[in-house]
Amino acid sequence: MTKFLAIDQGTTSSRAIVFSSEQKLITDSQQEYSLSYPHDGWVEANPVDILNTVNETINNVLNKTPEAISSCGITNQRETTVIWSSKTGEAIYPAIIWQDRRTHNLCNELKSKGYEKMVREKTGLVIDPYFSATKIKWILDNVEGARKKAESGELMFGTIDSFLLYNLTKEKVHLTDVTNASRTMLFNINTMDWDQDLLKLFDIPDSILPEVKPCDGEFGTLVTEGKEIKINGVIGDQQSALVGQTCFKSGDMKSTYGTGCFLMVNTKKDIIKLDEGLLTTVGYQLNNEVNYAIEGSIYSCGNIIQWLRDKMEFFQHASMSEEYLNNNGSSNNVHFLPAFNGLGAPYWNSEVRGGFYGITQDSSKADMITAAFKSICYQTRDITELLQENNIEISSLLIDGGMTANSAFCEMLSCVLQENILKPANIESTALGACVVAQIGEGESIDSIQSNIEETYEPRHDMKDFFDSDYHSWKQYINKTISNIK
Ligand code: ADP
Repeated sequence: MTKFLAIDQGTTSSRAIVFSSEQKLITDSQQEYSLSYPHDGWVEANPVDILNTVNETINNVLNKTPEAISSCGITNQRETTVIWSSKTGEAIYPAIIWQDRRTHNLCNELKSKGYEKMVREKTGLVIDPYFSATKIKWILDNVEGARKKAESGELMFGTIDSFLLYNLTKEKVHLTDVTNASRTMLFNINTMDWDQDLLKLFDIPDSILPEVKPCDGEFGTLVTEGKEIKINGVIGDQQSALVGQTCFKSGDMKSTYGTGCFLMVNTKKDIIKLDEGLLTTVGYQLNNEVNYAIEGSIYSCGNIIQWLRDKMEFFQHASMSEEYLNNNGSSNNVHFLPAFNGLGAPYWNSEVRGGFYGITQDSSKADMITAAFKSICYQTRDITELLQENNIEISSLLIDGGMTANSAFCEMLSCVLQENILKPANIESTALGACVVAQIGEGESIDSIQSNIEETYEPRHDMKDFFDSDYHSWKQYINKTISNIK
């Protein structure tokens, strides 16, 4: 039986999964690694930890799989930036994680100089620290000697896919795929190439950039413990979930609830640019065809649950959070502002920080936990409302990611949105997408890939009025807090 290896390098852990050609999980391995928060708004990881956890999980699954693996697909946290020496392979600075906000002054400066329109036209993105460009510039400007070395061709930049490809392949390739490139803020999604104007704007020499390939391109040969497997799939994690959920038609939408939450709608060949806070990005390039997507990015999602568990010590396991959700949706007027690292779509504010509001002597742990979960649903509603206002037709709402293991949350989400929500049997759509891309790279047709929806959550219509008014109260807190900062 043909088997595929999927590598899923996420924000909190690395996973390797062996799938069958029918996309059934055969064996998997997962290892967490830690992030560090050296200053307010800074988020870093040690690239060696990332590499080691990937290597160990690959070896774990290969040791359990005596049969040959046909090919390998890689999916990864996007935007996270690594710069390494082309001589030694060593990173010259920790990986700056996508959540890191250290460059917000630079972003504000570029916005005040009026570059927003040009960047939006070329990349589909808003100027924000989230994307790689200002992170690269920060490293080149702040690590001693880095800029000089970059200019003399001694450094390589990559998002995590490129860093892994360089370190895992026999050929030591310096490559990326179109989806990861489209998140750097240096890639022109109209011409599908690195953009010289943007490189000039961010003062980045093009010698450090990887070559860009379609998602189903040839990415070299993975060598590990004497085994060689060709890599013919690379795709950023959110785009991977889009593929894993078989969102191949225009209007198909998926929403992934992991560390952050990302909604993505396939718009096929149309590059639709919306004004307010939603991004336009490359969905995937498979069989020589580029599909675009609209994305709503929410920074804080599952990490809120981790914080409630680890810092507030409200429960021991994320799964126990379910017991504390008030089943009528009420948090007795307690609201949570989910902004540990600022807010993404549609607010795009780096300075705002989180908070609980409306707490009284009667407020309970359950109220606070319920408020935190509702804030995730309400951020989703922010984005679906924006899509509706912009007349983007959604044909289905598919969910996945670690948080969707929580049925009470899925029910709450369906009630808040007043929509049917579909959940697949395998909520690890991200890893599945990497397998599918590798299969397509092997010649499999897109049409043969089947969706694996298992569960539908239907909204309780009697809760519509309550959630409408509760959502508007929450939004008032958010707007007031943001206007206080300004
Ligand atoms: P990532 O790929 O971003 O690392 P995952 O998709 O693996 O994230 O999801 C992990 C997140 O899901 C964690 O932040 C965790 O807090 C959250 N999570 C996992 N199980 C549950 C649960 N039963 N209820 C709520 N949140 C959960």
